[in-house]
Amino acid sequence: MMKLEHIGIAVQNEAEANTLFARLLGTEAYKSEAVASESVNTTFFGLSNTKLELLNSLAEDSAIAKFISKRGEGIHHLAFAVDDIYEEIRRLKEAGFTFVNETPKDGADNKLICFLHPKSTKGVLVELCQDKQ
Ligand code: ZN
Repeated sequence: MMKLEHIGIAVQNEAEANTLFARLLGTEAYKSEAVASESVNTTFFGLSNTKLELLNSLAEDSAIAKFISKRGEGIHHLAFAVDDIYEEIRRLKEAGFTFVNETPKDGADNKLICFLHPKSTKGVLVELCQDKQ
């Protein structure tokens, strides 16, 4: 069974968003990490049952910059942890889902990640992630 690994939230201003979410959750972010392949910086907050991943853009043409200019700040994606990302991609392709990237790439937090196309998931951008061994 999949598990909700984290919820990705697009933010405009990293410092301001970090302060706000720290105040909201009553806990400090435990990690901040740039993901070069996506031109984003990620900041993680732990919750008892999942994590929040704040995403702020490091380049004007990044996916997060485009998302914010089109839709504003807010929930960007749901990330589901899977045991075998290659097997899940195969299974979901067979079931008719389409992908933004079918070949897993390096994500934050030492994970392999890929994204399903929101057109095939009711407008929700879904990330699959697997811990790198
Ligand atoms: Zn994510």
